[in-house]
Amino acid sequence: MAALDARGRGAGGPPEAALGTERRLHDGLRQWSAHGLASYREAFPADPDGASLHEDVEPWIYRHRPRDGDPWQAREYRLTVWGRRLRSTDGKLRELRLPATRLRAGEPPAGFVAAAALVLAEGGPGPAPERVRIVEFALLGGASRTLFDGTPEEARALYRAGGRAALASVLDGQEYRPGSSCVECPFLAVCPALRRAPGLLGVGSDGRPRRSWSVTNGRTYRACPARDHMRRLHLPALDAVEHDPTAERGRALHAYLARCHGSGSARPCTVEVPESWVPPGYDLSAGERELGARLLRHHAAVCPLRLTRDGSDVRPEARVVRHDSAADVIVIAAPDLLYRDAGSWVWRETKTSSRRRASNLPLLEQYPQLALATLMSVRGDLGGAPDRARIELEVLRPDGADLEVIDPFAAETRAAAERIVRELVQGWLQDDQYPANPGRGCARCEMSRWCSKSAPRQGV
Ligand code: SF4
Repeated sequence: MAALDARGRGAGGPPEAALGTERRLHDGLRQWSAHGLASYREAFPADPDGASLHEDVEPWIYRHRPRDGDPWQAREYRLTVWGRRLRSTDGKLRELRLPATRLRAGEPPAGFVAAAALVLAEGGPGPAPERVRIVEFALLGGASRTLFDGTPEEARALYRAGGRAALASVLDGQEYRPGSSCVECPFLAVCPALRRAPGLLGVGSDGRPRRSWSVTNGRTYRACPARDHMRRLHLPALDAVEHDPTAERGRALHAYLARCHGSGSARPCTVEVPESWVPPGYDLSAGERELGARLLRHHAAVCPLRLTRDGSDVRPEARVVRHDSAADVIVIAAPDLLYRDAGSWVWRETKTSSRRRASNLPLLEQYPQLALATLMSVRGDLGGAPDRARIELEVLRPDGADLEVIDPFAAETRAAAERIVRELVQGWLQDDQYPANPGRGCARCEMSRWCSKSAPRQGV
């Protein structure tokens, strides 16, 4: 968006100058922005219907002053839209262009389109249009599709049919969702949902800006800082790497187990795995499906629900988010399963492997999420009684299942966990350049398309 704004101002030169920043943009962001601009030109070659569209600099705002008795006691509502705003020279047409990484399959959220259509039809400044259009375009491929095209009256009718209820549900929302957005939240210090864990990571902030961090970030950063940075920027990943058959099978298997464990019945899994076990949305070959079913049958022997009393003791795919106020980092963890064993929380990680033999590396080194789990457990960050608190690693192999149990209170385990987590965080916390680290990992890097240091280069 900033690059398109700069282009509208006629700014030339390097992207940093055009964007009005003195900081050098990260290589990946430069590559991606250049690609996005080219895709925009491809999606909108020039004036498709001769309406001489030009960009509106002023935001479009729809204002509404409710009468007395407004359920949310607001004095005024303002609704605005984000995207490229264009208007025809004669003012009769307004067009909103919405950037997306890829065009989503299926219908867009109806309430969203209806609310945006209302802003186009009724919002100021400028004269009311006679026609409004909302178009979504793909930054990755340059394709576009029209989400709405009609008169202001049709836009208002669409809003009455679906937009009003969608906005009301947003205003009624009371849910807290701690996560990476906590980084920017001005209410962090008083938020009742974000729990503090000072000193969890074992490093000080040294006045660095607040950031979020997960073990996955730490591992990716250790392999290549540029790769982690580009992932954090949500640059589109290479499908061939992201949806590699082994990773896809692992994700499908986790989704299947989460569904079984989260059914609320607390019934342990059995060896009866249906032939159609693959959850919707996962695409597995016949061989991977068969291997997955075999691995799932081995899970029955070590299913943790054998130890729980009812559904309230089980949290599949839970998100554990803590604010390490000493490091000023929002720590995000996603255990495969948390379950309660006689009042103590147990952290279960499940891995799958098509190999029969395990690596010789110590477990906490091999899976640093176990190190973070150890620290959260031993410090009491998960709550519950300490008596039976433990970490479990379940490894499903074609020839059986292994269950490793880690005692977080063993002094040497805790010391190893502290060292592993500290080492993962330390360098990253001080870094704001995120240099590329080309090497063997490039061949399997999902960000390689946006990396000028990548070798060898891969296609999408
Ligand atoms: S292609 Fe290689 S150097 Fe570039 S981000 Fe990926 S791993 Fe790092």
